[in-house]
Amino acid sequence: MDTDRYRVKPGTTPTLKRWDPADDGGLDKAEGTKLLERERLELERLQEMLYVDGRHKLLVVLQAIDAGGKDGTIRAVFEGVNPQGVTVRSFKRPTDEELAHDYLWRAHQHVPQSGMLTIFNRSHYEDVLVVRVHGLVPEERWAKRYGHIKAFEQMLVDEGTTIRKFLLHISKDEQRIRQQERIDDPDKQWKFSKADLAEREHWDEYQAAFEAMIAKTSTPDAPWYVVPANRNWFRNLLVTTVLTETLRGLRLRYPPPEEGVTGLVVT
Ligand code: ATP
Ligand code: MG
Repeated sequence: MDTDRYRVKPGTTPTLKRWDPADDGGLDKAEGTKLLERERLELERLQEMLYVDGRHKLLVVLQAIDAGGKDGTIRAVFEGVNPQGVTVRSFKRPTDEELAHDYLWRAHQHVPQSGMLTIFNRSHYEDVLVVRVHGLVPEERWAKRYGHIKAFEQMLVDEGTTIRKFLLHISKDEQRIRQQERIDDPDKQWKFSKADLAEREHWDEYQAAFEAMIAKTSTPDAPWYVVPANRNWFRNLLVTTVLTETLRGLRLRYPPPEEGVTGLVVT
């Protein structure tokens, strides 16, 4: 699978129309599911190595429009990993204490420690998404945040964190179908809030905010991937593949044994 097609090249300003939300990478579902199984096993192995090696940290950022599939991605991609080495942080509406600090404060507290893989379910990017769409702070304030975020992430990278960011990209019609399902299926109603319909009215503004975000904050060290996400299996396959490629690139290894251990005999 050619993951590079989905990476946002730094210095470009692509529109989201460039990626088809229904893209299947030329695979059918059966092929895709088989590949996904393979990649998922590989992710399990590599995540265990990340943990044991203990020299690296991996931060995975997930952003999407409502019903874009963040929760489903986390479930499917990280199904088999060792829970000891993985944390998930969901970013909800900020608390009073969080609002009393700068907007990066709450994100910084939850970045991964050495050996850990941390998933941000929503993230500090909400502060240039929902905040921008609803004008929660004036433009002269949010407009500066792209620069802060780039610098913040570069600091994390320089200090040993690897960052990969995924924008799950669904079509407006797919959102309609998923929201309707949430309304009609008693087992899914808990996922639905009437406010989600009001948010849907802002579809175009969210797309514009996403486009500004990927154009301004995709860097060589902390790239954005636009993940076609109408098809769950393709979304899962692409995210998993990017992560296995990334972890393989770290050249993970078991820590060397203590001196004199090799050859010892237990009596
Ligand atoms: P999801 O829809 O992603 O599955 P959820 O439904 O479980 O999440 P919600 O409480 O509906 O949880 O979503 C979190 C809400 O918090 C979203 O509406 C999001 O826009 C909002 N939010 C997150 N960060 C911020 C922020 N910095 N400022 C304002 N609102 C924020
Ligand atoms: Mg929601």
